[in-house]
Amino acid sequence: MAFVYPRLGLRSLAPAAALIVLGGAPVTGAAGHHSGTHGSPGAAGARDPYFPTLGNGGYDVRHYTLTLDYDPGSHRLTGTAEITARAAQDLSAFNLDLHGMAVRSAAVDGTPAVHTRAGDELTLRPAHDVRRGDVFRAVVRYDGAPGELTDSEGTREGWLRTEDGAIALGQPQGSMTWFPGNHHPGDKATYDISVTVPDGLTAVSNGDLRSQRPTADGQGTTFAWHSAQPMATYLATVGVGAYEITRSRPGTAGIPVYTAADRTVAGRVRELLDRVPELTNWSVDKFGPYPFSSTGVIVEREGDADYALETQNRSVFTEDSFDPATLVHELAHQWYGDSVTPRTWRDVWLSEGFATYAEWLYLEEFEDTPVRASFEDAFGSDDNWAFPPADQPGAGQLLGDPVYERGAMTLQKVREAVGDTVFFSVLRGWAATHRHGNASTQDFTAYVERMSGKDLGALWDVWLYGDGRPSRP
Ligand SMILES: [Zn+2]
Repeated sequence: MAFVYPRLGLRSLAPAAALIVLGGAPVTGAAGHHSGTHGSPGAAGARDPYFPTLGNGGYDVRHYTLTLDYDPGSHRLTGTAEITARAAQDLSAFNLDLHGMAVRSAAVDGTPAVHTRAGDELTLRPAHDVRRGDVFRAVVRYDGAPGELTDSEGTREGWLRTEDGAIALGQPQGSMTWFPGNHHPGDKATYDISVTVPDGLTAVSNGDLRSQRPTADGQGTTFAWHSAQPMATYLATVGVGAYEITRSRPGTAGIPVYTAADRTVAGRVRELLDRVPELTNWSVDKFGPYPFSSTGVIVEREGDADYALETQNRSVFTEDSFDPATLVHELAHQWYGDSVTPRTWRDVWLSEGFATYAEWLYLEEFEDTPVRASFEDAFGSDDNWAFPPADQPGAGQLLGDPVYERGAMTLQKVREAVGDTVFFSVLRGWAATHRHGNASTQDFTAYVERMSGKDLGALWDVWLYGDGRPSRP
């Protein structure tokens, strides 16, 4: 994410919904005991330190097939979510996260399942237990007016209505407004997202556009998008609107480029749209092979969203956030955040610190601002010392300034400690080692020490975990 507006006052998150206690499932077998129907309910949260009810336990999603129909005029979304998952325990019931919307039916492996709602938890109780290790398919049909959430920074996320359609932004939990899922970054999956919109509008999503077909009644168009590489749910997006589309293929990386810009802003942002291939290639030179099958951007009008977000393959911008440094920031996230995804929200500096450092590299090469000058600027800003980047004081400051700028300062201190050669091989190697996976701060510090052969404990203590500003470096 990259903020556009002057920072809004930090708002503490509403108290998390109480954990649901699922009754009626006697647990008489030991874990892994497979005889009889003695499964237990999956947990209602994924044990995130800041968002205990986000995500769910007991299963691992492999693939989402989302079939959506959205009419901006009535603001009505009709959806079917087919969720293919592997059970991590014998399951008598399991949860999905869903905010709002009416659930019309649910089934597991073709048999109707009992479904109940409590807060943002949707519980499915299949007719038969799912056995540990089995791959099962849950189908949920739902509809309604998808909503917005106010995230921990006081900004909007979820299914945001725009002048001509909608744009979906999901960090950290907004994706639960438009599809039921395991909405924690630790459970990544592949996706097919198909969206039917009224004639004349375009639906843009993540991955590759597989087909674009008129509906049987001739009143709309169905756009089918496929994400072959794993994606965290917060990085899924759908943009619906009257877009100007460009498709091309950059020379070096060979990755198809698909850009969508709101028609009323496309002319003004054309010059930077045309640089997406160049800056994708520049990022490849710095960070290693591009992790996904396509690149691009979605550019909306000023005010359609409160920030730019690194939605996978093609990040979302508003016109006023679409500048070269922010474009580089969101492109860098494709490696750091999207491909190498924080294990929990506490690890988010591994995403934002790297993306900020990419901006510093860009400013040095293209705008004559040495990285060390960006470091000095950041060091001098009191806001960057509010808390340690690897240990935010709570969900309300999940994406506070230190996560970005002190995260980037940490990387600069690593660079000074290990030298340029090791540092840039760490940037590339980290992205390669954890490609399409999840990683934690501890994974990172251990990786740097292994690559450099140095004990950097003192550096981590000061820059990642320490309170307050150290003496002038
Ligand atoms: Zn960011």
